Amino acid sequence: MKLEYQSLCAIINEQNHNYYNLSNPTMTDSQYDQFYDRLLEIERQYPEFITSDSPTQKVGSININLISVVHKIPLLSLEKAQKEQELRQFLNKFKGCYFSITPKLDGLSIKDIYDKGQKQLSVTRGNGESGEDITGSLNYVKSSPKKIKYNGYLEVRGEAIIPINKFNEIQGDYKTPRNLVSGTIQAKDGSLSEKRGVEILYYDVVICDKKFNNEVESLEFLKDNGFPVVDYIVTNDIENIIQYCINYDRSKLNYEIDGLVIKVTDFDAREKAGSTSHHPKWGIAWKFKSLECETTLKDITWQVGRTGVITPVFILDEVLIGDVSVSKCTGHNLDFLGNFKLNDKIIIKRSNDVIPYAIPQPEKRNGNEFDIQIPECCPVCGSNTEINLPFLYCTNEKCNSRVIESIIHFAKRNCMNIENLGDVVAEELVNRKLINDISDIYILTKKDLLKLPLFASKKSNNLLEAINSSKNCTFNKLIYALGISNIGKNGAKLLANRYKNMENLINASINELLEINDIGEITANSVVEFFKNEENLDIIKRLKEYGINMEIKENKEEKKVKITNNIFSGRKAYATGTFANWKKDEIKSLLESFGCEFASGYAKSLDFLIEGSLKSSSKVDKAKKDGIKIITENEFLSLIGS
Ligand SMILES: [Zn+2]
Repeated sequence: MKLEYQSLCAIINEQNHNYYNLSNPTMTDSQYDQFYDRLLEIERQYPEFITSDSPTQKVGSININLISVVHKIPLLSLEKAQKEQELRQFLNKFKGCYFSITPKLDGLSIKDIYDKGQKQLSVTRGNGESGEDITGSLNYVKSSPKKIKYNGYLEVRGEAIIPINKFNEIQGDYKTPRNLVSGTIQAKDGSLSEKRGVEILYYDVVICDKKFNNEVESLEFLKDNGFPVVDYIVTNDIENIIQYCINYDRSKLNYEIDGLVIKVTDFDAREKAGSTSHHPKWGIAWKFKSLECETTLKDITWQVGRTGVITPVFILDEVLIGDVSVSKCTGHNLDFLGNFKLNDKIIIKRSNDVIPYAIPQPEKRNGNEFDIQIPECCPVCGSNTEINLPFLYCTNEKCNSRVIESIIHFAKRNCMNIENLGDVVAEELVNRKLINDISDIYILTKKDLLKLPLFASKKSNNLLEAINSSKNCTFNKLIYALGISNIGKNGAKLLANRYKNMENLINASINELLEINDIGEITANSVVEFFKNEENLDIIKRLKEYGINMEIKENKEEKKVKITNNIFSGRKAYATGTFANWKKDEIKSLLESFGCEFASGYAKSLDFLIEGSLKSSSKVDKAKKDGIKIITENEFLSLIGS
């Protein structure tokens, strides 16, 4: 047992590491899940095995002391169908009946128990016979109601999920949203569930004193009691159901699903159909085909990113996967590339809207394959390359491609938000030697910009203005914009909140960084390395000289303003005059955070004009004439409750 445990730890840690350093999918998600679940099982049985090296002991470690709870009624799982014929067979058995179709959520299956209108307990489904008490975590989940109208006894099933956009923000060591949600809910720290945006969607009444005739009645009952319920449709048209299942497009959903659930809705018919010891006979799970396809690896090109990493890109014989045509995909890094040869027959796989990835099939080689040559010179600047496994690097800090990529990143909307500084402009600026690094953006002149193609006076002014207002960008956005490896939007926020200003951040130590929840060793190292680099420090020094904000502004932008009566949402406003408490840009971002449109200038179509208390302007008189509501700075202060 101990041996199995140790090898599981090693396998999962390796997989996490590969994934973290830009994914090396030698294992499918379901294989990974199996290993992880098995590891948890062993740890619960033999807590003495657990070492600090266990994958469960890292970020948001799993609470192995969760109490096991036996389900009053076993929570069965549905039989699966993947072929049209299997689905048709099932449907034909219930000809004439109505069926419900719901998405089969790919998260953590849970059950909530209520009595006398109060939640008593939340439990995982576990193996169907018993699960673990997760009340502590679910108490932090808003969509799991603590109180309900209904006063009798009630057990209700749902699925805990983390939306894909949230997952992309957090991710960390977790490979899929499913891993993340189960790691989060079973973590020692219950409040992680709230922080990471866990949501529950309910889909089944297990036990209830109230009797229902059919599923729709029971789901409406749940809705009426404040439970968020999965989307469902009801029909008795068998051909329609089959077409719906086959053609279902999951790419637009913001949560992962791995199929659809089809159930007979009528409860009498369900009772008549009965169950086996494993599955009810009145429902079936339609499992989606994984989207994959075989093709040939024709060629490799190389792309230089902003950190100097040169990434191989696979050029493929074009194939259709789902309805998307795929002609290239990433080769990730040198370790990953080592599994491939030119002319290889490979599998390309897409799951949900994840980018396509390649899986090698060395067993299919016939001798017509060639080894892939690793370039000795950077494809962009011609400097020597350097291998630091698993990556290939361009050794030239000033490589054009690196500089261009770092500028594009810096200017992005969720970084410094410099409108009109996109890829084309960045490329022109660097290639014409008008800028050499991100700090040079702030010494661009109108004369410089007028040299660019399609830049006339107005466009140049607009860009200069956008550059100027980016100086007041929040500290966390600046951190993200600097492009520190492994620091995403979320990591940047954590750093900003912990360190408050640039000077503190520059002096951060590994140990200090590791104390921050959600920051692991790899990330901590990247931060320290970044600020050790003289060149980076130099750029930061210049940014500071040019007046870029390098601290958290307490009480204003960083502090979340709680607004009780949001009169601004969906309206249009503008600010005029000089303010005692804010710069205009700060008012702009405040208002935008309330869902208010901040106009680019005075207009008759405004809903509000906010007037500075230090100095007013003639626009206020105009606004009075135009019937626009004027809000003084003091009124504004009290409206936003600060
Ligand atoms: Zn280069």
